[in-house]
Amino acid sequence: MPTYEFKCAKCTHKFNLYESMVEHDKHQEKCPKCGSKDINSLISAVSVKTAKKS
Ligand SMILES: [Zn+2]
Repeated sequence: MPTYEFKCAKCTHKFNLYESMVEHDKHQEKCPKCGSKDINSLISAVSVKTAKKS
């Protein structure tokens, strides 16, 4: 399942959200640790897992 990695700009806590969760709570993503909404998305290779299949 694809995940998106986020990093809190306030406490630098890093966390992952599943794509479905991100899609659903797009407008209210927040740090699970300090509750800050000042977060940065780190779209990494984590979300691009075995996409090739021919
Ligand atoms: Zn935080």
